[in-house]
Amino acid sequence: MDSHRQAVDRLRSAFHSGVTLPEKFRRTQLTNLMSMIKENEEQILTALHKDLGKPKFEAILSEIDIVLNELHYAISNLTSWMQPEYVSKNLATKLDDCSVRREPFGVVLIIGAWNYPLQLLTLPMVGAIAAGNCVVIKPSEVSAATDSLIAELIPKYLSQDCYAVVRGGAEETKALLQIRFDHIFYTGSQSVARSIMQAASVHLTPVTLELGGKCPGLIYGRINITAAARRLVWAKFFNAGQSCVAPDYLLCTAATRDALLPALSQALEDFYGKEPQKSPDMSRIVSLRHWSRLIELLGKTSGKVVVGGERDQEDKYIAPTVVVDVAEDDVLMKEEIFGPILPIITVESVEKGIDFVNRKEKPLALYVFSDESSVVKTVLEKTSSGGFCSNDGIVHMTLPTLPFGGVGASGWGSYHGRWGFETFSHRRACMLRGWALERLNGLRYPPYSEDKLSW
Ligand code: NAD
Repeated sequence: MDSHRQAVDRLRSAFHSGVTLPEKFRRTQLTNLMSMIKENEEQILTALHKDLGKPKFEAILSEIDIVLNELHYAISNLTSWMQPEYVSKNLATKLDDCSVRREPFGVVLIIGAWNYPLQLLTLPMVGAIAAGNCVVIKPSEVSAATDSLIAELIPKYLSQDCYAVVRGGAEETKALLQIRFDHIFYTGSQSVARSIMQAASVHLTPVTLELGGKCPGLIYGRINITAAARRLVWAKFFNAGQSCVAPDYLLCTAATRDALLPALSQALEDFYGKEPQKSPDMSRIVSLRHWSRLIELLGKTSGKVVVGGERDQEDKYIAPTVVVDVAEDDVLMKEEIFGPILPIITVESVEKGIDFVNRKEKPLALYVFSDESSVVKTVLEKTSSGGFCSNDGIVHMTLPTLPFGGVGASGWGSYHGRWGFETFSHRRACMLRGWALERLNGLRYPPYSEDKLSW
């Protein structure tokens, strides 16, 4: 704990020295972060494979390239993001210099989750560095190989005075949270988010919460069933379903379900072969604890497993699994599944599907699959979610011009691209005045009078 406090003190002194403020410094650190990822790509891929059996292709797409793209984007736009934003003025401020200036908060804490262990730390870090903060990152102890690699690499590439890695699980994180930070950016579960907020409230520290929940997929009206099945299988079983934006469950009519099932089976076979366990493209469950949690769900569901269901404890493997006849109060519908199990719930109209979704907490992402634009429009207008995508899954979060984040129980705040820079910046309202118009100012000085009010 003392060493953590010392590390934060070191960062705070560096911040107060003003070293992180010049654009050149921020640009250098962002470039160094880029070098760190590029020069150690093989080691990163190995660590991700060790932690999650992550296929190289998925790791490059969702951990390496997405962060490199974010870095390129931030470096290209940094100059314009850092400019003061001049605002329109009224008569009384006509001669003043009125602007919004983005200033760093100070020393910020970024706590990551294990499912995309590199991306979930380094991508927010891009925004934090770009905004001029000093940063402590706390990787998830569950993805141990990536955690240890990040702790080894960050000090080699980034300024040790300004950036630090603190390792550990729940107890160490709780101790870390007793220290005062100027902003806390947390990615993880809703239950832990409550403790984060409680700890933050002691110092009145603002928080960004990137949480999860149950992301629904609604399938209604005419639909290209083959393409829908392929996109759903990709989005659901990418990283073995351990994505915060994976479709958690599907809602459709009985007829759509009957047409969808063979298409889902075909897409699974096309992607992972007849024996997905032997496919190099299927990730593993991160830990035995999570494996057992998922197996328990399969044991307790009153739904019918129609695809998959095979498992192998030693290999932390669960086959891509589809479950039908799932009731609204089924165990699979209680919490975010966060694994390769896809329940399908039959709800006979899009309106009832919308009611179903609106009875639950607002999700991080909401998906609708339909050829009919009126169906897409209705679902978009009558629901709320962090992000929305029609006729696909996950891909909306790869565009850095769209904010990524939740709403309500799926999270507060957002990041990616400029939104990350904004999240880690204080928008300071600045009015720079001279001595002009003193006669006009006289209107607000005592002695007050009715005449002055009506002027
Ligand atoms: P988690 O909440 O268990 O852990 C996340 C982080 O919190 C880890 O670094 C962990 O060490 C720390 N932690 C755990 N218990 C703690 C405690 N009691 N006090 C303080 N810190 C504690 O979450 P997880 O299992 O790593 O991640 C899964 C969840 O994260 C899912 O709900 C998923 O949807 C969500 N998630 C959200 C996003 C997003 O961007 N919105 C991305 C990935 C994951």
